Amino acid sequence: EKVLELKHVAKTYDNGVKALKDASFSLYEGELISIIGPSGSGKSTLLRCINRMIDTTQGEIQFMGMDVTKADKKEIKEIRKNIGMIFQHYNLVYRLNVLENVLHGKLASYSTWKSALGMYKEEDVEKAVQLLDMLGLSDRLYTRCSDLSGGQKQRVGIARALLQDPKVLLCDEPIASLDPQSSKIIMEHLHMIAKKMKIPCIVNLHQVDVALRYSDRIIGMHQGEIVFEGTPAELNDAV
Ligand code: ADP
Ligand code: ADP
Repeated sequence: EKVLELKHVAKTYDNGVKALKDASFSLYEGELISIIGPSGSGKSTLLRCINRMIDTTQGEIQFMGMDVTKADKKEIKEIRKNIGMIFQHYNLVYRLNVLENVLHGKLASYSTWKSALGMYKEEDVEKAVQLLDMLGLSDRLYTRCSDLSGGQKQRVGIARALLQDPKVLLCDEPIASLDPQSSKIIMEHLHMIAKKMKIPCIVNLHQVDVALRYSDRIIGMHQGEIVFEGTPAELNDAV
């Protein structure tokens, strides 16, 4: 089943930089796609178009029966609720503990008074605890995020994204700040999330070896263009 489809997507920034030129591809259920390419090749821009952090210049992005590029305010809210984002620098609230960070994103969807009092729903707390257990953080629930290692911080980021029940995960350089061992753990979790939880992932990477090892498909970008699309085996044959 097709979860997401990009058709001829282009983005030119206000300063004239053509960050994305005619990008087309589809993402299917259960898939982990890696996007590889040097810095500045348009990987982040591509993800930002998909969750409408930025407007596209041309093309179409089909998601949940909508064209993301033409979505109105209400639809954009709905789209973002269904897209989990993972960032290179985790974007956690460091003075809060692990559990609070995972629950934090949910506050916005609560009634105003619950949100104002910072009161979490019991079902959300239970689910957050389960997710953190799955990600190997059950002994860190009450640790301040500032006291975690990079790999642990990223796992908190993943738990926070999963708590929203996203239909897709977009990961922008999730392992770029991590050592090889932590990177391996994160990639294994993302792979499990795609395969077992059936939440497909798009992962921006600059390490080709990691992409070869964990992806179903690899998209290679260069100067805003998709210059390769295929399986790891096909990429091995191409180089
Ligand atoms: P990558 O994620 O592969 O490093 P980006 O998508 O961040 O690539 O950047 C693609 C190109 O677009 C680069 O030339 C970058 O400088 C430019 N760019 C990125 N964001 C902006 C922006 N907000 N305004 C103008 N140019 C930008
Ligand atoms: P990253 O390494 O995470 O891609 P960058 O340093 O490329 O981050 O970009 C940081 C911020 O600056 C982003 O919000 C991006 O949109 C913006 N940006 C990047 N390149 C440009 C540019 N050439 N002109 C204006 N803004 C840019």
